[in-house]
Amino acid sequence: MTVEAQTEAMTVSPFRILSRAHGVRAGVFRPPAACPIRPIHTPEMIVPTSRGTIPHLTPDNVSRNVPSIAGLHVGIEDYMDKTAMAAPLAIEAGRPGGHSLREYISVLPPQAAPGEQLPIFVSPRRANPIPSPQPNGDKAVSIQTSAGFRPVDVDDYLAFVERTTRDDGVVMLSPVDMPMVPGRKPRIGGNRIKKMLLRNSRWSAASTDRSALASVFAPIIPGLAWAMQKTYVDELVAYAAAGRLAGLTLWDLESRHIPESPIKLSAEEEESTASGVHWDHLPEALADVLRFSMSDLEGPHQALNTIAAGFDLIGGDFVLKTTDRGLAFTFTLPTTETAVPAEPAPLAINLWDRELFQYDTKPLVEGCQCFACKNHHRAYITHLLAVKEMVAWTLLQIHNLHVAGQLLADVREAIAAGDFAARLALFEVSYATDASLNVESPGPRVRGYQVRLGRATERLNPSPFHSL
Ligand SMILES: [Zn+2]
Repeated sequence: MTVEAQTEAMTVSPFRILSRAHGVRAGVFRPPAACPIRPIHTPEMIVPTSRGTIPHLTPDNVSRNVPSIAGLHVGIEDYMDKTAMAAPLAIEAGRPGGHSLREYISVLPPQAAPGEQLPIFVSPRRANPIPSPQPNGDKAVSIQTSAGFRPVDVDDYLAFVERTTRDDGVVMLSPVDMPMVPGRKPRIGGNRIKKMLLRNSRWSAASTDRSALASVFAPIIPGLAWAMQKTYVDELVAYAAAGRLAGLTLWDLESRHIPESPIKLSAEEEESTASGVHWDHLPEALADVLRFSMSDLEGPHQALNTIAAGFDLIGGDFVLKTTDRGLAFTFTLPTTETAVPAEPAPLAINLWDRELFQYDTKPLVEGCQCFACKNHHRAYITHLLAVKEMVAWTLLQIHNLHVAGQLLADVREAIAAGDFAARLALFEVSYATDASLNVESPGPRVRGYQVRLGRATERLNPSPFHSL
């Protein structure tokens, strides 16, 4: 047996760290599967899907034109009925004529990875879901179906994932119980803390118990000090030791503080609550487990800082939001030789700006190797937006996913070379803030999962018809 083969045989974890410096790490994740699975080189971005597709992109478009996609995130709430638990349509693997979730989604893997499937991450809720008006129960998570919110029994959710996926590189994110108060910071009382700990502990146990589910990620409870989660974290250590835990998820960096906790905290607990996310508090046994941040990132600054905080995977929702706004990313990770500009450069250009772009026949970004930049120009996309032609968002999505994918590739290169911290510092001073991406724009149609429906007085989607 060669040394490599011995090391390989000793590595039970599907995640292997290749290099690390100052808490940032680079590695490879390959979920166990019966079919060939494309490994994820971390740090990497997991792209959210909506009802089986990456918004604006058809499966062949993804396959041919977005080679950088490394993994997909699927919210099971997209596939659940308001009343019945049975899988809608034909996604029932094992049933005659039934399909697996992977076959149903039909996102073809990029042509850069022939013969390999992309890893799929599933969770009860979508990435950055709309907060549910109904609280979770002891046994049920509240989800949003196409016809309204409903509770879903956690055992039913697990059985659903088991039935519709099997050994095909699907990673299951265990359900999480956390306070979700729309528009407000959560205030967690003592009883709520006890319930949260109990539910997350039960649900993680139920998830990791399913031997047919190859990879399970359990949540670190958001909003709670490490010290208070000790008993729960000890359970996670046991699952990891038994080879039943592939990773950890953390939902929201912002909700990590408990503003007014009636529970008396020890000095150590106070400190760990106030100091936020510190992986150093984790027991050694969990140090090398994969970490997936589910936070709603505003833009590339937050994405890079999340990686700097020690996460291996981040969500890609900020890319999809930028595309919906009609913006095209223009950033790259500067090298240590790059001169800092006198004024921070914009993170993106706004293609709705007809005055600037209607005669501009340059590509979105000079030298960009994406399909949109190699074949089309700014004036064309500005025209497509003006006439609300859907292909505008298709081209922007291809470009933005390419730029974000390139950023992550540069990050991996920088970690390997040991100059990530220096290049991140240069990025911080070279570009405008993430908030600059948050521009008002007449985007594509607003969909039900994007806004919370209340007593709205104005139409969400203005009528496209008007008198001439
Ligand atoms: Zn491009």
